[in-house]
Amino acid sequence: MSFFDHNNVEQFKEESGYDINGRWYPRVTKIVGIKSKPALYYFYGEAPSFKAAKAMTENSAKEGTAVHEAVEKIMVGETPEIPEAILPAVRGYQEFVKERAIDVRPEHVEKRIFHPVHRYAGTIDALATIDGKFGVLDIKTSQAIYRDYNLQTSAYVEALLEEFPQIETRWILRIDQVHTCLQCGATMRPKGGRNKVRRGKRLPCYPEHTWSDLTGITELQEFPDWKSDFEAFLGAKRLWEWENEKWLKLAGYFDGK
Ligand SMILES: [Zn+2]
Repeated sequence: MSFFDHNNVEQFKEESGYDINGRWYPRVTKIVGIKSKPALYYFYGEAPSFKAAKAMTENSAKEGTAVHEAVEKIMVGETPEIPEAILPAVRGYQEFVKERAIDVRPEHVEKRIFHPVHRYAGTIDALATIDGKFGVLDIKTSQAIYRDYNLQTSAYVEALLEEFPQIETRWILRIDQVHTCLQCGATMRPKGGRNKVRRGKRLPCYPEHTWSDLTGITELQEFPDWKSDFEAFLGAKRLWEWENEKWLKLAGYFDGK
C-alpha cells in the first residue's frame, strides 16, 4: 500500500505478486487488502500506542502462521512437532476433523493458483470434501469469521474452476484457542499477547473470573455462493490497480507483461 511505499519495481513485484510461467500476477491477499477494515481502526485506537498495536499484530500473525504450518503438515499426513503455545488450537482441530469427517487432498494443500484471464494469483490452504461436497477450504486463526474473507475465497474458486469444474462450494475453517470462565462463560483470548476478554451469556463474575485451561476452538462455515463476492473482488482489484498504477506501469503490467 502506498502508505509504506516500495523502493523499486522489483521489490514491488516481489512483495505484491508471483511470477508464474514467465508472467507476473498480483497476489489475491494484496488485492483484498485494499478494502478498509473499520474494526482495525478501533483496535489501534484502543491500544496503548501505535507501536504496541503493531507488536500485538505481529505476534498474532506469527501465531497464526505457526497454526497454519502445523495444520497443513497434519493435512498432508506428517506428524509435526507442535509448539506448546499453539497446542490447544491444533489438538482442537484434530478432534474436529475426526468428528466432521473432513477429507483433505494432500496433493492440493498449499496449492498455488492463478487466473490467466482476470490475472491474479494466490495460494490456497486446501481443497476438501465435506458432507459430500468438494470445495476450497481456507484456514483462519482470527477471533471470528468475517465476511471480508469471501472476497479472497471467491477469487480462489474462480481460478480453480477450469482445472476442477466439480468445485461447488467453499468453507472457512477457523482455528483458535481461548480460556473460558467456568462461572459465567466469558472468554479470554491470549493471541498476540492481548488477553482480550469477552463476556459470556451470564452476568460477568465479580471480582474475578475462574479461567479454564487454554482450549481449542474450531468452527467451520460454508459460503456456497461466490458469484457476487467475485464481482466485488474484481472491483477491489481495479481499485488496487489504480492505487498501484505507478509501479504497475513500471512493471509493464498494463501492456500484458
Ligand atoms: Zn466469569
